[in-house]
Amino acid sequence: MSIFTKIINGDLPSYKVAEDDNFIAFLDINPNAKGHTLVVPKKEENKIFDLSKEEYISLMDFSYRVAKALEKAVPCNRIGMSVIGLEVPHVHVHLIPTNIMADMQFTKKVELTNQEFVALAESIASNFS
Ligand code: 5GP
Repeated sequence: MSIFTKIINGDLPSYKVAEDDNFIAFLDINPNAKGHTLVVPKKEENKIFDLSKEEYISLMDFSYRVAKALEKAVPCNRIGMSVIGLEVPHVHVHLIPTNIMADMQFTKKVELTNQEFVALAESIASNFS
């Protein structure tokens, strides 16, 4: 069982920003930038292109809605998107408020307090539709 499935099942905490029957979005615990969000299918699949085309399109649709909310909540030049999965083998889309190229490289990290995570998650969630 992946760490993300444990979050989905409520066995581990997360700073949740959006959820429906098939997807959940929560803040990355070790963010590249403020507002770095992960969009995750509830169905545990390792690799994104092992999803069916319908599942893939639904994931992109949900990610689009989260990105729109993120753009409103976190001022930035643009929302960058990345899919890797080398650390957590459960499909997830990284949505990263980006100003400089280094924001999209997974070497530059920002530290946030619990209060900052909570406030960010609330702000993104309140803009999600
Ligand atoms: P990837 O698998 O795409 O290389 O990266 C996995 C991402 O998941 C990393 O950005 C990492 O910070 C994040 N991550 C790993 N474990 C947890 C966790 O328990 N909670 C949250 N919210 N994010 C996590």
